[in-house]
Amino acid sequence: MALEEFFEKKKRLYTQAVKGQFRNLKWILNITFLSIYCLSPFLRFDRGPYASNQAIFIDFSNSRLYFFSIEIWPQEIYYLAGILILAAVLLFFITSLFGRVWCGYACFQTVWTDIFILTEKIFQGDRNARIILDRKNSFEKFYKKFLTHGAWILISLATGYIFVCYFNDAFILTKNLLHFQINATALGWSLGIAASTYIMAGFAREHVCTYMCPYARFQSAMFDRDTLIITYDEKRGEPRGKLSKDEARTQGDCIDCKQCVVVCPQGIDIRNGLQMECIACGLCIDACDSVMDKIGLPRGLIRYDTEAHMQSPKTQNKFRIFRPRFFYYATILLTVSIIMLYNLSHKTTSEVSAVADRNPLFVKMSDGSVRNGYTIKISNKTHAEKLFSIKLIRPIEAEIKIESYSGASLEKLPVAAENIANFKIYITLPQEFLAKNDEENNDEEESNNEENNLINLSVIDQTSGEEKKLDIIFVGD
Ligand code: SF4
Ligand code: SF4
Repeated sequence: MALEEFFEKKKRLYTQAVKGQFRNLKWILNITFLSIYCLSPFLRFDRGPYASNQAIFIDFSNSRLYFFSIEIWPQEIYYLAGILILAAVLLFFITSLFGRVWCGYACFQTVWTDIFILTEKIFQGDRNARIILDRKNSFEKFYKKFLTHGAWILISLATGYIFVCYFNDAFILTKNLLHFQINATALGWSLGIAASTYIMAGFAREHVCTYMCPYARFQSAMFDRDTLIITYDEKRGEPRGKLSKDEARTQGDCIDCKQCVVVCPQGIDIRNGLQMECIACGLCIDACDSVMDKIGLPRGLIRYDTEAHMQSPKTQNKFRIFRPRFFYYATILLTVSIIMLYNLSHKTTSEVSAVADRNPLFVKMSDGSVRNGYTIKISNKTHAEKLFSIKLIRPIEAEIKIESYSGASLEKLPVAAENIANFKIYITLPQEFLAKNDEENNDEEESNNEENNLINLSVIDQTSGEEKKLDIIFVGD
């Protein structure tokens, strides 16, 4: 069976430009989102001399993620999981209330497709002019297509370039680009993102929303009868029929002009009911409202409304924000936000851990005492050098020594800004103590045995006075 038999043949859409309140809102949001996308990597935030001053920066080479004053280290990647959960719940929240407004107004596929369609209109004209142009083979067609694709390629390259600015210092990258010294990784990613923008916004367009985006498939699970959707008022519009000069019009208000169809970026007819392809952009509302204005009928034949209100137009069925779903989602959102904020505001500026030597596990000394070696890892997450000290808390019989290098002592452990330092320490327990411990271990339960073998250390940040407890297991004969 040929592959084509499984798929509907791609029809070329010639969307017509439309004017109206939703189109204006879409332009305002497009400009806002594009400005945020393009300008964000160039914003600066002072973090001192040891860290990047780019406000939003994904620094792969140093494994850091910067967002203004928030700085996430690899071991704190759970914050990223929290942010993603928050974004997903927010998306579900908005969808359950207002339908697919994310798709219609904010999704990058919608925003870039809008820009590409506008470029097409600037160089080739509106819908009818484009249809006529595509039918002929002429020099006019060639140069208009050439200009359109040239502009698309430039927009795509700019999109790809801005994308890599989030992963590099935007100003240095731009300076290097002007000197034709852009590195191969940045160049490869820029071209990759540019190619995908060109294909998705220039050619794939509505097919991305219909076939590629998983969100279109499961969004209906978030809808209920009170969700705001784009609806055609069938009771008012049907039976549809052409406008005639006949005074006694017996048909419905829809004059079957198909303006709502030709402006639709998804190429659907909303008069056939709510469809999976509809991205709730509202352009069909603008088209129909302007038709209604021209023929002197009230606006709103196509409108944002709820299924419940369309079926039974009572006041209690009108769209309400405050309904049970609002409170479920708001509770989840608020809870996750509070947890995230609490954790972010209580982030520690240092972390301490210990790794015991494996080879050998312990060393028996000539006087019968036993020595264990450990590597103490101290991370300094601030942008200035810090001094730490290590203090033995328990047992008092233990002797602690540090391998002396780079001027480090137990009282003075320097850790450079934004760095992790390793310090080698040795703990020795005398023979008598170990023998007594062994006796106790034989008499006591297993849980107490572990406690007897524990060494309690304290690592103190000498700048902030912050103290971290470190429990390490001592291995004996
Ligand atoms: S049917 Fe209307 S709201 Fe839905 S995608 Fe088409 S124009 Fe946008
Ligand atoms: S734009 Fe309005 S009047 Fe024209 S076909 Fe669509 S629903 Fe009917």
